Amino acid sequence: MASLLQPIQGMSDIAAPEVAYWQRMEAVARDVMERHGFSELRTPVMEYEEVFTRSIGDTTDVVQKEMYSFERSHHRLCLRPEGTAGVMRHAAGIGPIEAAGGRWYYIGPMFRCERPQAGRKRQFHQCGVECLEEPSPLVDAEILSLQVDLLRAWGIPDCEVHLNTRGAGGEHAAVAAGLRAALAEREGDLCEDCRRRIHENVLRVLDCKNEGCRAIVSGLPPVTSFMGPESVAYLEAVEAHLRAMGIPFVRDPLLVRGLDYYEHTIWEIAGRRAGSQTALAGGGRYRIALGGRDWAGVGFAIGMERVLQLLLESPDAASFLPPRRPLVWLVGLGDAAQSANLALMRTLRAAGLACRMASGGSMKSQMRAANKAGAAWTLLRGDDELAAGTILLKDMASGEQRAVPADDTLPATLLDAVSVARP
Ligand code: AMP
Repeated sequence: MASLLQPIQGMSDIAAPEVAYWQRMEAVARDVMERHGFSELRTPVMEYEEVFTRSIGDTTDVVQKEMYSFERSHHRLCLRPEGTAGVMRHAAGIGPIEAAGGRWYYIGPMFRCERPQAGRKRQFHQCGVECLEEPSPLVDAEILSLQVDLLRAWGIPDCEVHLNTRGAGGEHAAVAAGLRAALAEREGDLCEDCRRRIHENVLRVLDCKNEGCRAIVSGLPPVTSFMGPESVAYLEAVEAHLRAMGIPFVRDPLLVRGLDYYEHTIWEIAGRRAGSQTALAGGGRYRIALGGRDWAGVGFAIGMERVLQLLLESPDAASFLPPRRPLVWLVGLGDAAQSANLALMRTLRAAGLACRMASGGSMKSQMRAANKAGAAWTLLRGDDELAAGTILLKDMASGEQRAVPADDTLPATLLDAVSVARP
């Protein structure tokens, strides 16, 4: 029996102190996205299952094995395993005129029923974009540059972009036939899954993690060898734009990505850690049929847990966080002072200060609570100060203490103290 005091396996609570990194990552992402002309789209975490089976393709691992699906009121529903299909459902719902030129980003949880292991969760978070502008290598390169710049802004300067093409939609059958022919004579050496994949969806063989399969796959001709010159020229144009922007990348001739809807440019981004690499993100151009028409777009999704893990491993991770707001702790001796402090705390908070107080106790225990909470200042008063209209302001670091007027000037006095103490 699983403990009811723990989240479901593969899912996590995100609490302090780590939650501060999430908040900062989200704030940085919103800033970067908005500078690139993207607006936020928040789709429900639950959709009709078909939204995904139609767009992602029903021979992918995500759809075949990993979706949390169930039936309710005669509808097949599921928790979203990725963000693109919901955005496309939204675009198709509002119609082509508004959707044309659509640039959306999303930040939120995704759900995949995978076997939990390091870096692989059942609820994880992705930040992604979808751009439905007229397809062009220029847009693809811009979206990839946005992704690299976002990772940099998140404190991951050192990542590796692997780039390839899936070719035009009309070439997919020729690519599959070419790969099938190239794999035919080694079919018996492939793993059991791949012997099935050859016939079902041969591209999945290229993603197989099995060592034997990987050795066979590494000897295959590049997928571009089964495509026409236009697709190769499209990829080369993307590469030229990336070079012009100074974005390093490597061409990965056997990269195909996990989902069926891709065409033309595709990529994956790996982060470097001591001695190994970790997959941080993927992206690419796609075409999805929904609402009676085809939607062409380009987008990416970044795994936020993986980024955070890398960020936390770096020695200057703490510098990613904004400086902590100094805390003011109010100490009151006697009921009248405590009640007056409660009202004062409200005024100070409205002025932008972070304030707390203890609900009772001796002066000593209230000061101890202030210390424990890391208060930068305390404001202390008892009946005498109340009668005199003053309050004692104590700098907790230096121990210095002075009486200041407890009137309308107090918020400004404190804000001054805060700004002097903050570089
Ligand atoms: P995908 O949608 O599979 O291309 O995934 C994009 C990124 O999301 C990956 O590169 C990972 O960083 C992250 N990701 C995918 N699946 C998981 C998972 N089960 N747990 C944590 N992160 C994941």
